[in-house]
Amino acid sequence: MKLVIKFGGVPVKDGESIRNDAEFVVSRYKKGDQVAVVTSAMAGVTDQLLNIANRLIEPQANPERQIPDFMRQISVRHFQACQDAIKNKEVLSRTTRVVKETLDLLERALIGVSYLGELSPRSQDLILSFGERLSAPILAGAIESLGVPSRFLTGFEAGIITDDHFTEARPLMDRIRKLAKQRINKIWADKEIPVITGFIGGTKDGIITTLGRGGSDYTASILGAALGVDEIWIMTDVDGIMTADPKVEPKARVIKAISYIEATELAYFGAKVLHPRMIRPAMDTNIPVRVLNAFKPNQGGTLIIRKPNRAKDIVKSITMSRNVSLITVGGAEMIGVPGVAATVFDIIGRAGVKVLMISQSSSQADISFVVDRKEADVALHALRSEFEKRHIDWNINCERNVSVIAAIGAGMKGTPGVAARVFGTMGRNGINILTIAQGSSELNISFTVDERDAVKAVRALHSEFQLDRID
Ligand code: ASP
Ligand code: MG
Repeated sequence: MKLVIKFGGVPVKDGESIRNDAEFVVSRYKKGDQVAVVTSAMAGVTDQLLNIANRLIEPQANPERQIPDFMRQISVRHFQACQDAIKNKEVLSRTTRVVKETLDLLERALIGVSYLGELSPRSQDLILSFGERLSAPILAGAIESLGVPSRFLTGFEAGIITDDHFTEARPLMDRIRKLAKQRINKIWADKEIPVITGFIGGTKDGIITTLGRGGSDYTASILGAALGVDEIWIMTDVDGIMTADPKVEPKARVIKAISYIEATELAYFGAKVLHPRMIRPAMDTNIPVRVLNAFKPNQGGTLIIRKPNRAKDIVKSITMSRNVSLITVGGAEMIGVPGVAATVFDIIGRAGVKVLMISQSSSQADISFVVDRKEADVALHALRSEFEKRHIDWNINCERNVSVIAAIGAGMKGTPGVAARVFGTMGRNGINILTIAQGSSELNISFTVDERDAVKAVRALHSEFQLDRID
């Protein structure tokens, strides 16, 4: 089989887990599979890079101390990982040298940022790229150390060309298809295993870009689609996509098969297993995606395909997004006034705040929307100051501590009575619903509740749709 296998998060947390990943890859190679490996940064490293870069541009920054401290910590972690992942002495010393050179480049980039005192999206992408540029050579070394030749490539070197929308770059698929095929096929022809940095690409001129946070899944599907592989495997630390977050509902089960559209919907609703954009390239080329536990790879996981044959499950999963706030703009003055929504969302959009859910009653007396709690103040401030400037006297109200609950499943399309079951369940459990939204795709019903009711709501719906009994 031709496979793209991607590792991220806990499976790349340290040298031992990286060796475990390498063993898995080598076992597939020995079975005759052609494998392209994609890896994310070691767990937590991207956040640490973002954090140090932001601290260095604060007015009270102390780069003489902060940079060496940071470099010491990140160096120790990666050198230790080399030691633990790579047993062969020669490969170890070669890999350590590459890691050392990459760390030197990182240090220079950090010094640059601190001198400039600003972090443009372009410099941020450069800094964040180091997470994957440090982890990928270690995984390649671990594979080599097991006796199979392996080569590490940056996303750009593998042919991932993007536009220059730094921090959220878009892949240029036509170019990628051509370049990635050429480059990876050449490595496969040499009987080597390519290990590609996830998350990063480059503009056509070779300036480093990133595909957005969590983007190494996206790299895997972009490459998989370009190479026309048989399957894309996402190796993570959970058993697959689940019927609910097992931390919220201990009876949650793994969903064995799910459609592309349902998986996309789930990714957007905060089941943080997959990057929301990663499904598209796979769906366009009809390539199955599997989500597997890297520590129990033979367990089956979740298969994502066009049409799973068990459409009888109406609802497949219940998600809950915490840490969100509900903002309501209202007032009798709004009734019948055209352009209310346009005004509100124009202001919110300009403030750079993402809206997660919208609802408006047909009386038009108010419009409510959900934003990330961290962004609530920015949104409120933007609305208040713009309203004042434009002499608008609509009321603004904010419920800070809410959660969005969503019931997701393609089977609810055209099935009457699903909403009644969802809201009847809430009623029986004494849970008050604040706002409701359903997309016209009918793939989900979502609603907001007070944060204190959220766990109860998830469990009640999980049991109503008998999700603990799916097989
Ligand atoms: N390392 C990147 C991030 O943390 C990409 C990824 O892990 O998928 O966002
Ligand atoms: Mg991820």
